Amino acid sequence: MNQSHCCVIIGASHAGVNLAFALRKEGWQGSIKLIDADPHLPYHRPPLSKGFLTETPVDGRAPIEKIQLKPIASYEKNDVELMLGIRVESIDADAQQLTLTNGETLSFTKLVLATGARPFMPPIDGLQDAKNLFPLRTATDVIDIKTALTNGNKNVVIIGGGYIGLETAASLRKLGHEVTVLERESRILARVTSPQLSAFFTELHQQHGVEVLTDKDVVKITTDDNGCNQIPNQIICADGSQFAADIIIVGVGIRVNSELAAAVGLNIEHGGIKVDSSAKTSFDNIYAIGDCSYHFNPHYQRFLRLESVQNAVEQAKVAAKSICGKDAEYDALPWFWSDQYDVKLQMVGLGEGYDDVIVRVEAQDEGGDDIVLNNVSKRSLWYFKGEELLAVDAVNSSKAYVLGTKFIKAKETLNKQKLADPSVELKPLNFV
Ligand code: FAD
Repeated sequence: MNQSHCCVIIGASHAGVNLAFALRKEGWQGSIKLIDADPHLPYHRPPLSKGFLTETPVDGRAPIEKIQLKPIASYEKNDVELMLGIRVESIDADAQQLTLTNGETLSFTKLVLATGARPFMPPIDGLQDAKNLFPLRTATDVIDIKTALTNGNKNVVIIGGGYIGLETAASLRKLGHEVTVLERESRILARVTSPQLSAFFTELHQQHGVEVLTDKDVVKITTDDNGCNQIPNQIICADGSQFAADIIIVGVGIRVNSELAAAVGLNIEHGGIKVDSSAKTSFDNIYAIGDCSYHFNPHYQRFLRLESVQNAVEQAKVAAKSICGKDAEYDALPWFWSDQYDVKLQMVGLGEGYDDVIVRVEAQDEGGDDIVLNNVSKRSLWYFKGEELLAVDAVNSSKAYVLGTKFIKAKETLNKQKLADPSVELKPLNFV
């Protein structure tokens, strides 16, 4: 070990933890300190709105071990020092020093910002005083939601029809709660996918008993402080409509934790910390990875910010190489998944700017059986700009996802007519 070299990582989630282990793999000889404000042993976030929400016992004693990123023994074995429940207050780049909440300072030779994001709480009149109002980003949020759900509160309103809001809706329906989703735009998932997929998910949720309401701009929440009303919160929308809610869950997007970076003078663009293709910031010994980074994607020839586990993991690998003095360039093709009821959605590529979409509904499932899978057919949406395939959204069709990935990477020109025809089997040579 070379203890005079110390890599400090702020943020022990998908990006930070993967980086710590990748550093050891790449041969980093110095010490590694992994700091996070969250007191829990680092855990996977995707299950929070899915299985962890449905399975967390009602007494709130969450089985966090089930979703931990690594067992505690792995950190010890790899000599990664975990500093949990501690917040970094400030960075002194010249002195190469951090100040922690407890007033202590910590020196670094390399610093990595893996600070991710926090839920955005919109400036809605009365939001601060609402009862049983929760974001959903941390294990603590889920434990708090579960605790509120067990106190006789059954009626849940979710503000925001994005992936987190919809996954939460599906999980809460599974638990038997009344769920209403209020979306400000004219369709759910408007920011992230096509009208066709939005329509599919709207129908799916309605079939499962969720009230999905669009064009609902929440402007005010009134709360009964005396406990006289059976349902404590009243949500008021711009169109005058009102909704009673025992519990309110807010899922309207995130804000990047970029304050530390901004204060030290790093470049912040489009809300993210700007890095080069090796994850390095505008300062030589400071890196940024994961949700907080604004990075260049060579597939789409532009800078972007991604909120996905895959991006966090890929950037961690690149940063580890770079910190260890090896050549590394980020060139991952983005992918993402979402689980709602029995639907597995897998998305590859970025469809932004598409001018044509082929919707393919499978006549038979991939095993050759009947199309019905819990009443949901397998389908895929193929997004094109001209002849270029930009992205694929695959619903219960891992074949479409795998094939789409291959085609996008190879920049294949596809026969769109055949692609739209479900009698043509999903095999590479059938479409090129
Ligand atoms: P984060 O996970 O945000 O972690 C950043 C960490 O930094 C936090 O733990 C925070 O406490 C810490 N931190 C920040 N500032 C400081 C500071 N000053 N001092 C100390 N610590 C600090 N992605 C998918 O690909 N598929 C999914 O199905 C999916 N589902 C999701 C479901 C939910 C409910 C949520 C919330 C996210 C989901 N995501 C999903 C997104 C995915 O979880 C994120 O992209 C991923 O967590 C990003 O990892 P990260 O390490 O960059 O940041």
